[in-house]
Amino acid sequence: MLKVRNYVGFTKEVINLKIKLYTFLHFSGQLVRGKIKLRYYFRTLKRLLFFLSYMRDNKYAKIGNRLKINLYLPGFPSKAYYYACSKVLEFEKKMPCISVLISVTSACKYKCPHCYQMHDKGKDMDIDILIKTVKKLQNMGVAFFNIEGGEPFLVFDRLKKVCDAIDDRSEILINSTGTGMTFENLSELKKNKNIIGIMFSLHTDKPEDMNKFMGNENAWENLEKGIELCHKVGLAVTFNTCLLRDSFYNGTFENIMEIAKGFNGSILQLIKPKPAGGWLESGVEDFSKEDIEHITKKVHTYNLEKSHKDYTFISPMIIEESSNFFGCTAGGTERFYINAKGDLQPCEFI
Ligand code: SF4
Repeated sequence: MLKVRNYVGFTKEVINLKIKLYTFLHFSGQLVRGKIKLRYYFRTLKRLLFFLSYMRDNKYAKIGNRLKINLYLPGFPSKAYYYACSKVLEFEKKMPCISVLISVTSACKYKCPHCYQMHDKGKDMDIDILIKTVKKLQNMGVAFFNIEGGEPFLVFDRLKKVCDAIDDRSEILINSTGTGMTFENLSELKKNKNIIGIMFSLHTDKPEDMNKFMGNENAWENLEKGIELCHKVGLAVTFNTCLLRDSFYNGTFENIMEIAKGFNGSILQLIKPKPAGGWLESGVEDFSKEDIEHITKKVHTYNLEKSHKDYTFISPMIIEESSNFFGCTAGGTERFYINAKGDLQPCEFI
């Protein structure tokens, strides 16, 4: 099993200094080698410091030998981390996006009511075009590829070909339900050293509720089996969870955090429910200002308090998208989405 260590408080601050020092040395080296113009050097450092200061609400999670300080920023230290940081070197044109979510297939055995791909009908994109696109995106500065389906392990050939097209300038995270995962196909993927791990869907805290929600009687079993295989192979286990308002008041959120910790989860992406896909027409109950404060307080406890250090690091959409942080990053400012048919979308929810 891949070792996961979390850092908060003073240790996190010391690590911060180390990251800043290494990043400073890296870009100073680029100045010496003439890759950065002197007139941009200090502005580059200022931009990097500004970006790093926005990690203040995060727990840092060391996965193997890579430190994740943000879900979308490749682990430090790595070629992909510095490639992502290079985004700030652009002063004359628009800065490049560093992350993309790509669906390699719409095939899926589940029927989640909130699925944002519910209305995406059509044939999966030609694999050769997808590979060319991925290579092009990487050359344009994309340093974090989040690859999903449907269920990508149902079309393992496509998944592997796309991963193979991405070199070590970028990090890869694969979303899955666990369906179709085998020891053999995970071991094959593990050969791609830039795959940080697998992100499993975990939307409820009870097996029977999860099976019901995902419309498949084996959903929980597939999740458990998939996690076990990842640990066997040495790939990090991460989660995404999309919770409605009530879950933050009735103990579900806390139970999910216990489950994620029990599974040795390293990151949990907390998705804000949005009126897209299956929820496009019905809509979803919005969070009030008080709800957001309530959730933020909980996330801070888990991410920042020493008493909660061993819990999984939460990457909360609700905070990251707020005006105090990055705001909405969709639409080519930071990330975008390519669905299984090849449609380009500002984000998966639009
Ligand atoms: S959300 Fe994911 S697992 Fe659920 S139906 Fe959609 S593609 Fe399948």
